[in-house]
Amino acid sequence: MAHTEYPRSYYAASANPVPDRPELLGGAEADVCVIGAGYTGLSTALFLLEYGFKVVVLEAAKVGFGASGRNGGQIVNSYSRDIDVIERTVGPKQAQLLGQMAFEGGRIIRERIATYGIQCDLKDGGVFAALNGNQMRHLEGQKRLWERHGHHQLELLDATRIREVVNTGRYLGGMLDKSGGHIHPLNLALGEAAAVERLGGVIHEQTPAVRIDRGPNPLVHTPRGRVRAKFVVVAGNAYLGNLLPELSAKSMPCGTQVITTEPLPEPLARELLPQDYCVEDCNYLLDYYRLSGDRRLIYGGGVVYGARDPADIESIIRPKMLQTFPQLKDVKIDFAWTGNFLLTLSRLPQVGRLGDNLYYSQGCSGHGVTYTHLAGKVLAEALRGQAERFDAFAALPHYPFPGGRLFRIPFTALGAWYYSLRDRLGI
Ligand SMILES: Cc1cc2nc3c(=O)[nH]c(=O)nc-3n(C[C@H](O)[C@H](O)[C@H](O)COP(=O)(O)OP(=O)(O)OC[C@H]3O[C@@H](n4cnc5c(N)ncnc54)[C@H](O)[C@@H]3O)c2cc1C
Repeated sequence: MAHTEYPRSYYAASANPVPDRPELLGGAEADVCVIGAGYTGLSTALFLLEYGFKVVVLEAAKVGFGASGRNGGQIVNSYSRDIDVIERTVGPKQAQLLGQMAFEGGRIIRERIATYGIQCDLKDGGVFAALNGNQMRHLEGQKRLWERHGHHQLELLDATRIREVVNTGRYLGGMLDKSGGHIHPLNLALGEAAAVERLGGVIHEQTPAVRIDRGPNPLVHTPRGRVRAKFVVVAGNAYLGNLLPELSAKSMPCGTQVITTEPLPEPLARELLPQDYCVEDCNYLLDYYRLSGDRRLIYGGGVVYGARDPADIESIIRPKMLQTFPQLKDVKIDFAWTGNFLLTLSRLPQVGRLGDNLYYSQGCSGHGVTYTHLAGKVLAEALRGQAERFDAFAALPHYPFPGGRLFRIPFTALGAWYYSLRDRLGI
């Protein structure tokens, strides 16, 4: 059997020690079989266990092998689409419900960390940085909208204030989300997996679900085992492949790349990010960065549609980092890696149920650290019979990418090129 290890990343190199979990051999039974041990699967499993369900989690590789163990570590609240756009799509009543939930994922993460004593370098504060007047006006509008939905923890930063939190001349303002922040993402996933096991859940690594026999008591097949369950939750996101063919036409795996410097001397780290907040800019193809627990700069950006692995990640991301912080020109890059997220055309998550008992949530299109934690709660609520919040997500419409399987990658890249050109021109 193929054995899949973590990619070489700063997170894998600094992961808290954990035992290997055995492959599933033979038959198992559970109330719920969860497929995928990223944040979506782990959060769902944890809520289900807290509600008293018996849960088995199947993971094709290792806990946090996908985006959850490779991401920028930024606790970015809300969704990858603005709430006014959501309101125009689903109407004011559903938008109200989605708006109320938009900052809940960040709270769930903090509760998990506190309840289960997870060591993952949590720090508070996230900044959205504006590169031009249009982006600043957009942030001002966003703040007003979020306040309408009851979220008052946002603070606009003028040109002077933003220099106090991120020492670069690139921005003319920004917005601080005091309920944002950052974490070591793989250690968060590993801590949540340990909590799943502490509550009696079972996790099998190196165990891909290869087929699901649907019906009243679905049977999930793996290479050397099977799980009989009352419900199945599919949480494989960009790494799922074609297990649920109904979903794949309406979503597309995309890669984004991250580099990590050597540890920076304390005065230099403090000079770059004096408040130790994480930062993402407001471009369509955005840059995102933060300091790690041991004072490395973790810098991400760029998107590869269709998720091909780029050959030389450092040559793509380092120039972006130097544009923001030219003072790092002599600093060594210790790690560079790529990871896949799942894009939908609307950039809203794809959530729903196939038949009576096969649930899924995927495709949050970039900002997923908080949403996936919320999704776990919403899915678990639906399984125990309270589906109002699940239904609000399931009602979000989804469309196939233009161009079909053959041309969807060039078509989407063309669209992204257009939006990045607008960003560069500041229009
Ligand atoms: C490089 C990068 C940077 C990012 N930065 C940020 C950020 O800073 N902030 C933010 O909010 N979001 C960020 N994101 C997005 C965020 O990480 C994801 O939205 C989120 O982690 C998705 O979690 P998930 O559990 O749905 O999927 P994943 O974490 O991808 O987990 C899916 C899991 O399912 C497993 N799996 C797949 N198929 C099967 C199968 N058939 N059987 C068993 N197991 C299976 C996979 O092996 C994988 O472990 C980033 C994404 C990437 C790639």
